[in-house]
Amino acid sequence: MVAGAGPVGLTAAMVLARRGHEVVVLEQGDELATESRASTFHPPTLEMLDDLGVLEALLDRGIVATTFQYRERGGGEIATLDLGVLAPDTPYPYRVQCEQSRLTPILLDALPAPARVLFGHTVDDVTPSEHGVLVHTSRGPIAADWLIGADGAHSAVRHAVGAAFDGDTYPERFLVASVEEDLTAALPGIAPINYVFDPAEWLVLLRTPAHWRVLLPTPGDTGDDVELSRLPERLAAVADLGRPWRLLHASLYRVHQRVMESFRVGRILFMGDAAHVNNPLGGLGMNSGIHDAVQMASALADVLEGGSESALDLIATRRRTVAVEHVQRASHDNWKRLRERDDGFRQHLRELAADPVAARAYLRRACLLDSLEARP
Ligand SMILES: Cc1cc2nc3c(=O)[nH]c(=O)nc-3n(C[C@H](O)[C@H](O)[C@H](O)COP(=O)(O)OP(=O)(O)OC[C@H]3O[C@@H](n4cnc5c(N)ncnc54)[C@H](O)[C@@H]3O)c2cc1C
Repeated sequence: MVAGAGPVGLTAAMVLARRGHEVVVLEQGDELATESRASTFHPPTLEMLDDLGVLEALLDRGIVATTFQYRERGGGEIATLDLGVLAPDTPYPYRVQCEQSRLTPILLDALPAPARVLFGHTVDDVTPSEHGVLVHTSRGPIAADWLIGADGAHSAVRHAVGAAFDGDTYPERFLVASVEEDLTAALPGIAPINYVFDPAEWLVLLRTPAHWRVLLPTPGDTGDDVELSRLPERLAAVADLGRPWRLLHASLYRVHQRVMESFRVGRILFMGDAAHVNNPLGGLGMNSGIHDAVQMASALADVLEGGSESALDLIATRRRTVAVEHVQRASHDNWKRLRERDDGFRQHLRELAADPVAARAYLRRACLLDSLEARP
């Protein structure tokens, strides 16, 4: 059984169902979430989605980004990194810009018959036993041999087992604005993905299939209304269009880096945001969650087919190592980098972009290719 029909829960269900195992996914919503969140798919995730038979549908809906840029606020390009240098490492040396809310319907449609998704079923509590788990839902209890907790950052499953979720909260909140403007016209030369440096007010500019997104740091202690009313002025400071920007949607997020002590508690496996969260800079949360789902659900399928539980434990430990040493480290480095004052660092990025060998090593880490070779 899987709690949560987000990108991670549906990927885990897909892996198990494709191996012929019966899976029930419990989703609290009456339909799939449509919230605007992850928008970047990295090369190893594209490889996994290809193995699951859903890559073509994602490519049909997304935009292929072969480069990304580091830029100076008000000062143009610092360096453009070409993902093409990853060609020896992956059949997909690019990022795909596409919202996670476009992937989840693709996964839902492609789920093979042994999997069923029950909408309107909120997991309230769980009672673990040696041989299974009793899952208490808003529509009554359901027994399962194993449970996957993929119910997001506020995981009810994690709360039910009393597991800690240790880590930190960033001092500022992040404001994400979706806009109707064509930023390629307003800021000539920008890439589909842009990390814009400024010690006082860094920002990220991301193209998605339907619009552009602007990510801005925002004080942690001011009212939401105050911050949203300042947004038109802050957007005009990104590029002066001579009129107010056409804003589609804006939300404020508090951002954490937290991780569970163990991704396996008896017959319950934790993955994705339920197990670890990180800041969104670099687009690693959903990607690493999908990697958790593929690796841990495959190891669970092995157990269900008579394999050893020690292999499953090893994978669960490895995924925790990846969450801390790759995902959290890289996303925190990205946060520090955007506030960097040092000119030497800018020079380092220029040299990196001009050196395919160094760029390849850097991009392997940035897109999580290296993380898949991590040892516990
Ligand atoms: C602004 C922003 C931008 C981001 N950008 C990126 C990016 O570019 N790339 C990237 O990789 N990551 C990004 N992330 C992170 C990414 O969105 C998450 O890591 C990802 O959604 C995790 O997927 P998940 O399936 O684990 O959890 P979720 O997507 O949160 O899905 C959990 C599901 O469980 C359901 N659920 C919750 N509680 C219960 C319950 N009690 N019972 C039953 N169902 C329940 C929810 O309704 C939901 O459908 C971003 C996040 C934010 C906030």
